Amino acid sequence: MSTSPEEADTPIPDGQAAADAAPALGPVVMHSIAEIRTYVSALREQGLTVGLVPTMGALHAGHLSLVEAVQREVDAVVVSIFVNPTQFAPGEDYDAYPRTLEADAELLATVGADAVFAPTRTEMYPQGELRTSILPGLPGRYFEGKTRPTHFAGALTVVDKLLNIVQPDVAAFGEKDFQQLVLVTNMVTDLNLPVRILPVPIRRDTDGLALSSRNARLSETERVTALFLSKTVLAVQRQCADGALPSEAKRVGISLLEAQPGIEVDYLEIVEPQTFVPVADDVAGTARVILAARVGQVRLIDNAAVEIAGPATKENA
Ligand code: AMP
Repeated sequence: MSTSPEEADTPIPDGQAAADAAPALGPVVMHSIAEIRTYVSALREQGLTVGLVPTMGALHAGHLSLVEAVQREVDAVVVSIFVNPTQFAPGEDYDAYPRTLEADAELLATVGADAVFAPTRTEMYPQGELRTSILPGLPGRYFEGKTRPTHFAGALTVVDKLLNIVQPDVAAFGEKDFQQLVLVTNMVTDLNLPVRILPVPIRRDTDGLALSSRNARLSETERVTALFLSKTVLAVQRQCADGALPSEAKRVGISLLEAQPGIEVDYLEIVEPQTFVPVADDVAGTARVILAARVGQVRLIDNAAVEIAGPATKENA
C-alpha cells in the first residue's frame, strides 16, 4: 500500500475491484473521487448501507470509536483521511499536521473498517482556491470561530464535499470538537442533506486527557501540563453538579488553569449547547463547559456536559 497518493507506483484498483476485495484485505485505500464513487455504488447495488467517518488522519483510539459507533448502524464504513487546507489559516499547523496514512490503514484494519478515502489536495480542490463555500450560522462565530475566523467555513465546506462524494447514510462526528459537531448538524438540517449525523462521546486516555492527533506533538512535560485541561473540565463539571452557579464554576476553572505554568488559556466558558451563548446564573439545565488553551506550541480543546441546578436549588441546599 502506498503512503502517498502522489508517490503511488502500483496501479490503484478500480472501485468495483476494491468493493470485492474489501473484507479479506482490511481497508481498501482509494485516492480518487471516481474510485470511491464506484466503490460505494457497488455496495449500494448489493443493498448495503454505508457510513462515513471524516478525519484528518494521524488516527488514534478516539477515531476508532467513531468507526465502531458507525459500524453498529450500517453495513460498511468508509473513513476519509484528508488534511483539509481550507480549514487552516496561514500560520496555523497545516504543514506540521502529522500525516501517517500507512499506520492509519493498519489501525483501521484492527477494527475492520472497510475503506479509506484519502484524496490529494488537487483531487479535492482542482481549482486551487474555493469558488463556493458554506458559512456557519451564529454559533460558528464564537469561541473556535472567533479565534479561527475562517476555520468553520473550511471545515463545513469539506464535510459537505465529502458527504456529496461518499453519500453515506450515516456520518459520525466526535463530541471532542463539540462546536463543529453542532455546526455540522445544523448544516445537514438547514441544507436538507440526506444523511444522519451520529454524535460520538469523547474518548480519553486513562489519565483523562482527551485523545487528539495533536497530543503527539507534546513533549513529556507538556503532556503532564496538558492534563490540567481535562482536570479543569472535570472540576467545572463537579462544581456544577454540587450546585455552583455557572459564574462560580467558571471562576474555579479559570483559576485552576491560570495557576498552571505553561498553559495559555484562549477561552473557558459554560455555554448553552445549541447557541453557544454563555449561560446566565439564573438558568437550570444541561450546558457545556468548553475550553481551549495552548500548551507550548500545541493548541488543545476539551469540553464536557454540565448539569446546572439553578439558583433555587442552591438557596434550598
Ligand atoms: P480530526 O481527525 O481531528 O479532524 O477528527 C476527526 C473526527 O474524530 C472528528 O469528528 C473529531 O471530533 C473526532 N475525534 C477526534 N478525537 C476524538 C476523541 N478523543 N474522542 C472522540 N472523537 C474524536
